[in-house]
Amino acid sequence: MSLEFAIAVDLGGTKVEAALVDPSGVVLAGSRFRAPTGPERSADELADSVNEVLRGVLTALPSGATLLGAGVGSAGPVNEAEGRVSPLNLEAWRQYPLRDLVVAALPSMPVTLRMDGICIALAEHWVGAGRGYDNVMGMIVSTGIGGGLVLHGNTVSGPTGNAGHIGHVEVAGFDDPCLCGGIGCVEAIASGPKTVAWANRQGWTGSTGEELGASYRAGDPIARAAVERSGRAIGQAIASATALVDLELVAIGGGFSLVTPDLFDHIRTAIATRWQFEFVTKVKVVPTGLSSDGPLIGAAALIHRANVVG
Ligand SMILES: [Zn+2]
Repeated sequence: MSLEFAIAVDLGGTKVEAALVDPSGVVLAGSRFRAPTGPERSADELADSVNEVLRGVLTALPSGATLLGAGVGSAGPVNEAEGRVSPLNLEAWRQYPLRDLVVAALPSMPVTLRMDGICIALAEHWVGAGRGYDNVMGMIVSTGIGGGLVLHGNTVSGPTGNAGHIGHVEVAGFDDPCLCGGIGCVEAIASGPKTVAWANRQGWTGSTGEELGASYRAGDPIARAAVERSGRAIGQAIASATALVDLELVAIGGGFSLVTPDLFDHIRTAIATRWQFEFVTKVKVVPTGLSSDGPLIGAAALIHRANVVG
């Protein structure tokens, strides 16, 4: 029996990665390649980074193995129909034809592109904390806040490919301005950097999410208030999303989700205020079931789990 792999590509604001992923959702050891991206790079330099990781991943293909196709997860916004991407933090790429770039590097191979949040939801549903649930939101709380939806067992992208942008749901009681033009978007309140910035404005003097976590554990009142505030905002956003689409489970990953396990308690407390609506309070909010390979596994799921990709 020959081995079958999908090429997974994950394009983010600081790096692009590619790897080979097998049909059980495991990244092949030694097949993971990384190149830098970032706002300071030109359009051609970003393309060079993508081509570099694709060349690398092809060299890692075991002899006799088959390639089924390539799945590409990209930071949003995306233009799914045309395979174009406009990642907020990669200013040189606006409506950039990323899918065409990958097709050119991998001729005669199927290539599927989706927003990275959708890939995370797919990965949680496939091999992560969302296994056994068919109405799942995958969520990342990191330098930004992103997400994606699996509803009735299928991904939901919407007509442009950007459904599930939970980071830009506005939450009541907050007036933090957001880069998108909104006021009180959950990303503008509760991302790692925004939580740190709020704590700094209250007089806390650290500079990273890790330091904030350490202060939290030490009982620092400002750090405690900052984490509680972010958890409340995330919980309000999840409660609103659940009111809208009746979610069963939300799996949260990303660096800042690890600031303290108490973050999840603050999230759940905010959701519990909707006590009259059992269909809202039922939503389970759990840490990601994925390793740091999650974004790549999700991109590979666009190929291996194509039957549930809407
Ligand atoms: Zn926003």
